Amino acid sequence: MSFLTHLECPRCLKHYAANEVHNLCACGSTLFARYDLKRARLTPPVPKSRAPDLWRYREVLPVENDGSIISLGEGFTPLFHARRLGDRLGLPNLYLKDESQNPTGSFKARGMAVAVSKAHELGIRRLAAPSAGNAGGALAAYSAKAGMEATIFMPEGTPLANRLECALHGAKTTLVAGSIKECGRVMRESLAGGDWFDLSTLREPYRLEGKKTMAYEVFEQLDGRLPDAMIYPTGGGTGLIGMWKAFDEMQELGWIGERRPRMFSVQAQGCAPMVRAFATGTEVAEEWKNPATLASGLRVPAAIGDFLILRAVRSSRGAALAVSDADMLRAVREIAETEGLITSPEGGATLVALKKLLADGFLGGHESVVLFLTATGYKYTEALEQLV
Ligand SMILES: *Cc1c(COP(=O)(O)O)cnc(C)c1O
Ligand SMILES: [Zn+2]
Repeated sequence: MSFLTHLECPRCLKHYAANEVHNLCACGSTLFARYDLKRARLTPPVPKSRAPDLWRYREVLPVENDGSIISLGEGFTPLFHARRLGDRLGLPNLYLKDESQNPTGSFKARGMAVAVSKAHELGIRRLAAPSAGNAGGALAAYSAKAGMEATIFMPEGTPLANRLECALHGAKTTLVAGSIKECGRVMRESLAGGDWFDLSTLREPYRLEGKKTMAYEVFEQLDGRLPDAMIYPTGGGTGLIGMWKAFDEMQELGWIGERRPRMFSVQAQGCAPMVRAFATGTEVAEEWKNPATLASGLRVPAAIGDFLILRAVRSSRGAALAVSDADMLRAVREIAETEGLITSPEGGATLVALKKLLADGFLGGHESVVLFLTATGYKYTEALEQLV
């Protein structure tokens, strides 16, 4: 059962009732789901009888009734010990979280599984979101399974696989000239006044809850430890913020102490608002003009959770760094050659970032590092074609 108690604003700390429909806080911030962690008694090891999916962390997920869960088998993806790649880099404790094994081939399934399930439970029938690609595909799939209506706004250059999945799952899809930012604007204009629920990144509280489960999984998969560092390809930052929130929950639940992994955020050189804000020392990030990268998941010029991403990166003594598209593609090949996985350019970006961090002495030796390979490369054949 869920131990959800209320929603709380991480910026102004205002509370909202659980089990009502909410988007943002009145102050404009995203809202966090809060749980009664004293009563939840979710302690490791999580019982073996629980299914190997993200619903094994049922107590700290917001869905009240099992009957509301819309699942395609998301979560509990493998954490591979990357021995060959690690050998090359002189990093014996390198791990790859292979998110390509989620339904719809990306970790967006985690967020959408939880958000669509909760929307379903709250009696919502129509969902809408702007998407750089994978979120739209996942929303379309879970909406189809739930028998709900999905409306998706995507940039014109979105990979074919994403456009296909939306079409096949019966989502209403509109292609927009511009980035996900313009898609959001067009969505709000064209659906204004209608009876629909906005599932945009961090504009509702529950996609974050789905993505936070990566932190619980990594802990279980490393036999009850967290790694020294995590490298996360950052668009809206849902996963990074979600895991950072999960660490606090895990501490309150008694899984871990005060120590946190160092959080490294990687972005594309053609769209790096967090990297610029990190470098200039600002608390929020200015919008990135003319975002351009073939890593579609990273083509996010402004993130509503910017202050939360920057807080996590800074307080963990991490960093935010930008890498080029060409380097990402080379890294996709290197991961494919050494570890047998075909990841997306966003996944490749984490390896490029790792190399920079090793070269600059940020990381090294026997430190344990987890790279998040956030989607399958099979959805990016247009971009990967130049490698063959
Ligand atoms: C959306 C996406 C990202 C960025 O995830 P956020 O949690 O929004 O920062 C990274 N990689 C892929 C493949 C994505 O689809
Ligand atoms: Zn607030």
